[in-house]
Order: sequence, then structure tokens, then C-alpha cells
Amino acid sequence: MSIAQNIQRITAQLPEGVKLVAVSKFHPAEKIMEAYNAGQRLFGENRAQEFAAKAPQLPADIEWHFIGHLQKNKVRMIMPWVSTIQSIDSIELLQLVNKEAARNNRHINVLLQLHVAKEQTKSGFTTNEVLKAADEGAFENLTNVTITGVMAMATFTDDMEQVASEFEQVHNTFLTLRDKHFANNPAFKEISMGMSDDWNIAVQHGATLVRIGTDIFGAREY
Ligand SMILES: *Cc1c(COP(=O)(O)O)cnc(C)c1O
Repeated sequence: MSIAQNIQRITAQLPEGVKLVAVSKFHPAEKIMEAYNAGQRLFGENRAQEFAAKAPQLPADIEWHFIGHLQKNKVRMIMPWVSTIQSIDSIELLQLVNKEAARNNRHINVLLQLHVAKEQTKSGFTTNEVLKAADEGAFENLTNVTITGVMAMATFTDDMEQVASEFEQVHNTFLTLRDKHFANNPAFKEISMGMSDDWNIAVQHGATLVRIGTDIFGAREY
């Protein structure tokens, strides 16, 4: 199936209110344009250098989400293009993004990345860490950043019950944060979870953003 057909197939299966982030990492601008011409406007990239090289070649009405681990020395590189950074995994990074957004006269949306997977390599806040940071006021007084929700990746496994229980944990942490710390902030409403192999399960557990690469563009060449 073509990229356009894949976008249509997936979009048709998503419940109302769930948005598709087309993950275009490792794919050239021409492939992104195929998805764009099929109506897709929301794209995700995970490497700062590659993103900063591709974004200027593509239409200005694309909404770019940064979804990969973001090194502090790369924040400046993505600032002109990014609309949402999904992968905020430390308070230091959050503060730096706020500062750089202010310097650039920009306002950036961010998601707090939660670590629920078994792998040590995946980054993010544990449930305890994020609730403690919220209690300490770490998510207040940000002038140029709006925290719009949470993001997570499940363990890479065939055990779909494991995956489902991790997504449920993300959902519960989201609800606790929302009700306890973001009750006056209606922008805090997004749960980004689910990739090519598990987005159906993610949607059943409350995902509002699914991040899909392979199922749209085919396999990536590394
Ligand atoms: C690459 C990537 C995806 C998409 O993965 P696929 O399995 O190709 O759909 C989603 N989220 C993150 C954070 C990624 O790095």
C-alpha cells in the first residue's frame, strides 16, 4: 500500500479525538510530502540534526513534534521549527526549553515523558518522580511553555498484557496529575502513546496521540 493509503487506513480506524503523529524519522522530504499530500499535517521527528535539516524544506503549515531524547545542547537547533516537544525527561530540560523559547519569542507545548517500560534505556520520569516534581512546583511559573500532557513508550515485547498494563499506568498517572496539579489548566489533555505495533492497545487505554512510523512509511533504513 502507498503512504497515502496507509494514512487513510489508519486515520479511518482512530476514534474521534485521537490524532495521528506520522513519525518521519530517517525518511526523506519527498516521502513526507507524499503523506502531506494525503492530508497529513502532524509529523514527529526524533533526531535534532535531521529534523533541523528537513523542516525548512517542507511546508510551513506542518505541525512538528519532537519525540526523541533531546540533548540540552540541541534545544536551540530545533526551536525555530518545533511546536511540541513530547520528550521532556528532566526538570533541567524543561527549564532550558522555557528559556530558549523566550529568547526566540516562541511558545512551545511540551509533554512530560513517563518511564513505564522495563528497559533501562528508555528515558523519562517515573510516576513517583513526576508527582514529586509536581508537588515541588516544578511545573509552575513557565512563561513560554505549556505542559499539554504526558508521553510514554511501552516495553518492546510480544507480551501484549504487559504493554496494556504499562499504558494503563500512564493513563492513571495522567489522571492523577490532571486532577491534582492541572485542574485549572484545560490544555493538559494529551496522552501520547502507541506505535506501529501497539497503537490499538494504546487507544483502548486513553491515548489521544499515536506515533506511527513503520506502518505508514515502511521499514526505516539505518
Ligand atoms: C520511531 C518512534 C516511533 C514510531 O515507531 P514505529 O514502530 O516505526 O511506528 C514512535 N515513538 C518514538 C518515540 C519513536 O522514536
